[in-house]
Amino acid sequence: MRTPIIAGNWKMYKNVQEAVELTKGLKEMLSSMKGVEVVLCPPFTDLSEVAKVLEGSAIGLGGQDCYWLNEGAYTGEIAPRMLKSAGCTYCIIGHSERRTYFHETNETVNKKVMAALAEGLKPIMCVGETLKEREENRTFAVVKNHVENGLKGVNGNDMDRVVIAYEPVWAIGTGRNATPGQAQEVHAYIRKLLGALYGESVAAKVRIQYGGSVKPENAAEIMKERDVDGALVGGASLKADSFFGIIKKSVKE
Ligand code: PEP
Repeated sequence: MRTPIIAGNWKMYKNVQEAVELTKGLKEMLSSMKGVEVVLCPPFTDLSEVAKVLEGSAIGLGGQDCYWLNEGAYTGEIAPRMLKSAGCTYCIIGHSERRTYFHETNETVNKKVMAALAEGLKPIMCVGETLKEREENRTFAVVKNHVENGLKGVNGNDMDRVVIAYEPVWAIGTGRNATPGQAQEVHAYIRKLLGALYGESVAAKVRIQYGGSVKPENAAEIMKERDVDGALVGGASLKADSFFGIIKKSVKE
């Protein structure tokens, strides 16, 4: 059985003090939580302090992005190796906000996925269609393009470290989540794509998160879908109570 994974994407919120406070609260709330993996993805500037608070807990730490080289004259960029040394085990890659506002492409996403894997990190690779693409019945084609090109060159042996986040762009930060049926349909399709690329047994083990306006109120019904293995949570991960509310509802019986 796949252990669900709930990751909190704090985006560009929380200064160091706020991040430490939120992390302390979550650490306390999650001290006896079983059957779900939890990962916090704060801004880069918070990572080291959050890592200190997380010492001794099962909560993981992730970056929100990384560059594809480990050092060099690339002002403003953060290397996978730097994330590792700050205490990260995960890294979100190809979030739709990065694709939209920072012009990331499947090619750069792929380079970042490869670089993260090479450093021993676990990439959370985001894929998903815009509203226009869904309305034009291009959801499957867009997702196929994101999955196949984002994973180009990734070896089947490394797929146990890859998490895929299906995040329909129209559901991110809009309050409008995909229905459980819409999520399951795309998740099953992604698993089928992975099966074609890597074989059924590898595909069966890859965790596919849903992301897009997940809240405590809608988490349970989305999480109970067969191919939904957790969530990538934005807004609702910024408060301990709401994030905890989602985590509690994600444990599969
Ligand atoms: C996200 O940022 O990945 C996300 C899903 O945001 P929200 O939960 O706020 O829709």
